[in-house]
Amino acid sequence: VVDICDVHKSYGLVEVLKGVDLQVRAGEVTVVLGPSGSGKSTLLRCINHLEKVKRGTVTIDGELIGYRRVGDKLHELREREVLRQRTHIGFVFQNFNLFPHLTVEENLVEAPVSALDVPRAQAQERAERLLERVGLRDKATAYPGQLSGGQQQRIAIARALALEPKVLLFDEPTSALDPELVGEVLDVIKDLARAGTTMIVVTHEIGFAREVADNVVFMDEGRIVEQGTPGDVLDSPRHERTRTFLSKVL
Ligand code: ATP
Ligand code: MG
Repeated sequence: VVDICDVHKSYGLVEVLKGVDLQVRAGEVTVVLGPSGSGKSTLLRCINHLEKVKRGTVTIDGELIGYRRVGDKLHELREREVLRQRTHIGFVFQNFNLFPHLTVEENLVEAPVSALDVPRAQAQERAERLLERVGLRDKATAYPGQLSGGQQQRIAIARALALEPKVLLFDEPTSALDPELVGEVLDVIKDLARAGTTMIVVTHEIGFAREVADNVVFMDEGRIVEQGTPGDVLDSPRHERTRTFLSKVL
């Protein structure tokens, strides 16, 4: 589904992604690990074109993201087109990013109605099902500020699902949570994995990676140092840098 090919990204003179290649197949969960500053968030932001890549391409279900191919040249897409593409790429952030002035249900209904022209009644029905799925059906009329961090994050996941994305990206979805709330959010993500949702998850939760990842990717200094099954990368890493990193987070 997702094909990241030779992606380079610089901020000024500093190259933070130095040629990343990564494939994610339909229904697979890829967990991305790596030290702070290694480029994990930047990679996710390049996937949905929140950041423009300097070189390389991102393709989702055969569709080039952010660009149109004309002959052998790439032309940048118009903002409206990019927004349309982005509606098919779910993004869940560290800090939930719910709309504070909207109720939980309105948070889930707003995007499908405005971005995909889904009839409101249908979006509401879908919102109810999604709330059920994340175990928060009774919170439909609450405001984000009335919920715990774990509940807000589960709502943020439901909101991303409301657009029926082709792939769901998570950037450290549990790192802003109190330790006792981490489990409930990981449980929701595990359920999605079981249901065959295609996901890329940046996290430091090694136990989670071991349990649900089809592919574990270790990044350092803007490159993928190694990748493979959880058994390969977590239990018998081939690279010294991976070993050093794992010894710190485990
Ligand atoms: P963390 O684990 O701390 O979230 P990360 O692996 O997600 O780290 P990135 O946020 O992708 O790392 O950052 C990679 C590098 O790019 C860092 O050196 C960072 O300082 C730099 N960087 C990120 N965003 C910008 C920006 N908007 N302008 C300039 N430099 C940036
Ligand atoms: Mg980050």
